[in-house]
Amino acid sequence: MDLRVIIENMPSPQDRYDLHTHSRHSDGTTTPAEIAKLAAGLGLAGFALTDHDTANGWDEAREAAAEHGLDFLPGFEMTTMHRGRNTHLLAYGADPQDDEMAALLNLLGGARQRRAERMVEKLAQDFDITWEDVAAVGIRAIGRPHIADALVRKGIVADRDTAFATLLSSKSPYYAYAESVKTVDAIRIVCAAGGVPVLAHPAAKRNRSVITPAELEQLIAAGLLGVEMDHPENSPELLTELQRTVADFPLLITGSSDFHGAGKINRVGEETTAAETVLRIRELARIKH
Ligand code: AMP
Ligand code: ZN
Ligand code: FE
Ligand code: FE
Repeated sequence: MDLRVIIENMPSPQDRYDLHTHSRHSDGTTTPAEIAKLAAGLGLAGFALTDHDTANGWDEAREAAAEHGLDFLPGFEMTTMHRGRNTHLLAYGADPQDDEMAALLNLLGGARQRRAERMVEKLAQDFDITWEDVAAVGIRAIGRPHIADALVRKGIVADRDTAFATLLSSKSPYYAYAESVKTVDAIRIVCAAGGVPVLAHPAAKRNRSVITPAELEQLIAAGLLGVEMDHPENSPELLTELQRTVADFPLLITGSSDFHGAGKINRVGEETTAAETVLRIRELARIKH
């Protein structure tokens, strides 16, 4: 065994991308430019910005990426429902101006906002918290992280993780469901808008069980092209099962950090995607730059 050969074959950061990050345009705490800086510091080839329900950070991210000599892939993440499962869907290179795509982003953004308002209304009955406390940050895509941070600022809970584990958990009386859409419908809209739909973190611990082969087949029939296999929140058991399921289908395999800035431990570049996979995504997507 020649040690030099092993080293040369090791994946280098120059061939890797982080394809799932959130900025202040949704529920991350950093700007897109800060994400670009972190990616450049690690020597990554590029990154995708995938804020919830919005393309608002793309221009800033693209510009910052160029300044650092990084490649930028535009994306967003949508919360959808597939057969009773809360299913997060990533879309790369979809045109946010496409009529149906724009309508879907608008619908999901509105549903996110109304759901946050309902949760804050419930919390306000028992705690000293108002919508103004939560929305003070002036961000459109208000989610549970923003409610959590307001609860921390008001001294109601100790930290964000505690907020998620208690008052904001899906079992809490203060929890509210958001109106959503079927994953298959979102996938069709993404494809028609020239995008590449990728199933986000299906092996994450909080999913409790992995998508079945039959369920995955339905998504592929609708146009699903990839699966985010590597994710910091994966459960090893669910990942093993997912690997068995995915092996039977010709899907792109991605990996990403799901960086949210402070308040969540996920770090940029923690999980990554091969440059050749990104090249394939670009070929399949309408947006080339
Ligand atoms: P929501 O989409 O409003 O239901 O909130 C869930 C989002 O909060 C997901 O995108 C999570 O990744 C994110 N998040 C940020 N910080 C945390 C945390 N400390 N615990 C759990 N989820 C978090
Ligand atoms: Zn998020
Ligand atoms: Fe997600
Ligand atoms: Fe995410």
